[in-house]
Amino acid sequence: MANWFIQASYFIVAVVFILGLKAMSSPVTARKGIVWAGYAMVAATVVTFFMPDLHNVGLMVLAIVSGGAVAWWSGKTVKMTDMPQMVAIYNGMGGGAAAAIAALEFARGEINDPVVATLAVLGALIGSVAFSGSCIAYAKLQGIMKNAFRLPNQNLVNIGLAVLTAVLGLAIIVADAPSSTLIVLFFVLALALGAILTSPIGGADMPVVISLLNAFTGLAVGFEGYVLGNPALIVAGIVVGASGTLLTQLMAKAMNRPITNVIFTPLSGGAAGGEGEAIEGTMKEFSALDAASVMRYASKVAIVPGYGMAVAGAQHKVWEMAQLLEEGGVEVVFAIHPVAGRMPGHMNVLLAEAGVPYDKIFDLEEINADFPQIDVALVIGANDVVNPVARTDKTSPIYGMPILNVDMAQNVIVVKRGKGAGYSGIENALFYKDNCRMLYGSAQEAIAQVITHVKALES
Ligand code: NDP
Repeated sequence: MANWFIQASYFIVAVVFILGLKAMSSPVTARKGIVWAGYAMVAATVVTFFMPDLHNVGLMVLAIVSGGAVAWWSGKTVKMTDMPQMVAIYNGMGGGAAAAIAALEFARGEINDPVVATLAVLGALIGSVAFSGSCIAYAKLQGIMKNAFRLPNQNLVNIGLAVLTAVLGLAIIVADAPSSTLIVLFFVLALALGAILTSPIGGADMPVVISLLNAFTGLAVGFEGYVLGNPALIVAGIVVGASGTLLTQLMAKAMNRPITNVIFTPLSGGAAGGEGEAIEGTMKEFSALDAASVMRYASKVAIVPGYGMAVAGAQHKVWEMAQLLEEGGVEVVFAIHPVAGRMPGHMNVLLAEAGVPYDKIFDLEEINADFPQIDVALVIGANDVVNPVARTDKTSPIYGMPILNVDMAQNVIVVKRGKGAGYSGIENALFYKDNCRMLYGSAQEAIAQVITHVKALES
């Protein structure tokens, strides 16, 4: 097929990628954006088959069919709560694929241009780090890797390994025909670097590191796109790299954690096993009837959802309850923490799915100052994101993370199944406060009971 047609197709694909990304910036159009970008990716793949001098077509088809089948099956069956680890591992695959392209190009010994060789080495390094780092992130989120792994003098080891890998990369760039030992050693060190950098990171830093690795994958793909002379790969890589970088910055800002701290002084917690100061006091239990009465006669209720609401799939019941309260004249708002749940925007997606209007949903900075004037803060399956020790306990693995100030509300009701800890694995001082009551039960059933009592109060 004529080269101009292939190039024009790549151009159209690139435009659709960007339009798709733009559509993803609002929950109303996000699904459309994902579908457009998906079709564009299929088109780019199909067009590539018409490139001249293509070899190994059978193997390529086999790889696409088998990879596509696994992706289709896992996409259909993954639970909403397991999405973060799926994102982590797929992202890692992208980085690994970019590194594999570079490895093959080096092994073929056909990179003669120093600029191309430099970009290939950069893509290989960043892609390998993204691959092994994402595998570690997957293992942590999936609960396979339960303990943090921190070497003595970790930062020195990180820097030493990074310098050594860079030196080997430089040797590949300047060599006329790099030896296979040099290439293998470079990749082993680059993969080790990704694993060692990510292993100590845990707790509240996990969302930031996943987003950072995602940005790395985008960059690596963009560099390898240049090596292969494939504009669709370059544009897709740049789009992922740029959006991943912006997301990382936003997440880091929301967590009050500079990226350098995430990498060089990581928090532990979660899969990494957290600690913190002991908390005194007792938890006070509340019934669904008590909860219904307190909220029904309140003027303003703030609902704070967290991971437990996602696990229970309780968002529809929660919105039904909110509507009932509003019919009774109560003002109801939703307060969302940027890292509530297990992926960026997790709660926004669930609430949007349940039909909660966007003007009822408030971010942390928008609502935090209002909590002292709020009659009832109803915390549903959230834990770390409302834990006041983040403000006070310097030994806590979540110290410094901005939290939703629900403890400052007049009354707090917490819906959870029992005494289970949050992702960071630490006790929550909120649950022991005088103004806090515990409504035990799985979120869906507990809220259903509250709904029954609110209805009974109306009649
Ligand atoms: P947490 O994980 O801190 O707490 C969730 C709580 O939900 C648990 O204490 C649990 O208690 C309760 N729960 C579990 N199942 C149910 C259920 N069926 N019904 C009711 N309650 C239930 O959640 P948060 O949203 O507060 O915090 C998110 C944490 O995850 C943060 O530490 C964040 O850093 C981390 N993280 C976030 C990511 C992101 O991108 N958003 C990615 C990776 C990690 P019990 O067992 O007693 O019911």
